[in-house]
Amino acid sequence: MSRPSQARLDLAALRHNVALASELAPNARVMAVVKANAYGHGAVTMARELEPRVDAMAVACLEEALELRESGIRAPILLLEGVFEPAELAVAAREQIWVTVDNATQLAWLEQARLDKPLQCWLKVDTGMHRLGTEPGQAQRYFERITSCPNSLGKPVVSTHFASADDTGSETTRRQLALFEQATAALGVLRSAANSPGLLAWPASHYDWVRPGYMLWGNSPFGTALQANAARLRPVMTLCSAVISVRDVASGEAVGYGESWRAERPSRIATVTIGYGDGYPRTARNGTPVLVNGQRAPLAGRVSMDMITVDVTDLVPVQVGDPVVLWGEGLPVAEVAEPAGTIGYELLTRMPPRCPRIVVNA
Ligand SMILES: *Cc1c(COP(=O)(O)O)cnc(C)c1O
Repeated sequence: MSRPSQARLDLAALRHNVALASELAPNARVMAVVKANAYGHGAVTMARELEPRVDAMAVACLEEALELRESGIRAPILLLEGVFEPAELAVAAREQIWVTVDNATQLAWLEQARLDKPLQCWLKVDTGMHRLGTEPGQAQRYFERITSCPNSLGKPVVSTHFASADDTGSETTRRQLALFEQATAALGVLRSAANSPGLLAWPASHYDWVRPGYMLWGNSPFGTALQANAARLRPVMTLCSAVISVRDVASGEAVGYGESWRAERPSRIATVTIGYGDGYPRTARNGTPVLVNGQRAPLAGRVSMDMITVDVTDLVPVQVGDPVVLWGEGLPVAEVAEPAGTIGYELLTRMPPRCPRIVVNA
C-alpha cells in the first residue's frame, strides 16, 4: 500500500489539445512551449508525445533544451530568452537549437561568434510587454544585421509577446498587433505572436508560427471566465488523493492549524492525504472546492504540509479510501487557483517532485 496522492497525466488529453491547437490555427506551424518541465508535467514525457504532432518546441534556457536533446528529442527547440552568454551559441548551433535575439548585446555575441555552422535566429520585437525585444523602430535594422550575419541561417523569424491576450477585449492586445504589423509588414518574413490566449481568442495573431504552452496541458488561460475554444480543452493533469480519516465534529469546534474554520453545525470532516508539500496551495481558503467521490465539497481548515480537511456533511456518507480530486478532470485548476490568489500556471508549474506522476492513456 502506498500513499494515494499522485498527479495523473492523461496523454490522450494532451493529443486532443495539440490537435485543437492545429485545428484553430490551420495555417500556422505549431511550436509547443515546454519550458519549466512542461509547466510541471514532465518535459521529456510531454515532449515525446508532442514531437510527432508539432513543428518545433520552445524552452526558457539551454539547460532545458539539452535535457530534451539528451532524451532523444530531435525537433528544433527555440530558446525563448536567447543565450545568457556567448559560449552557449556554439552549443546551440551544434544541437540544432534556435536562439532568440532580443537586444544589442545578444546581437553582438551573434556577430562575433565563431561557429562551425549557422543557427536559426528569432528576432523579438517589443510591442508593449516591455520585458524583452527590440523597439519596433529598430526592428528593420536588427533584421538586416541578423540576415547578413554569417552565423545566422538566413532571415530570422520575427516575434513578439502579448501582455494581456487573456483579456479578450484588451485594447493593449489590439495596439500590440497594430505595432507588430507596422514593424514587420515590409520585411517579408515569417512571424509569430500567439501564446495560448492568442491562439484561442485572437485569430489575427496566428501569423506563421503559434506558440501554445498552457493550453496544451488542457487548462484555460482565461481562468474561470468562459471562452468557447478554451471550453474544448481537456486537462492533462489530475491531482488525486484519497480520504484517510473521517470524524464528526460538534458545533462550535474548530478544525486544523490556527482554528481558521469552526463548525456552525454538527459536521462531518474528511481528512485527505495531500498538502502544500504535494503542491496543493497553502493559501487556498475555506470553501475552495474539492471533489470527494466526484461530488463537490468545501475545504474546511488550513492546508497542512501533508493533509487537508474537507467538510463532507452534505455528501452521501464518505469513507476511508474514497477517491478525491484536487484539480483536473471535473474541477478546473483555476477554481482552486483563484481563491488561493494565483493562477493555474503557477500551481501546475511548481508541483514538487514528491508527488508521483502517473502516465495514463499512453
Ligand atoms: C511562455 C511563453 C509562451 C507560452 O505561453 P502560454 O500562455 O503558456 O501559451 C509563448 N511565448 C513566449 C515568449 C513565452 O515566454
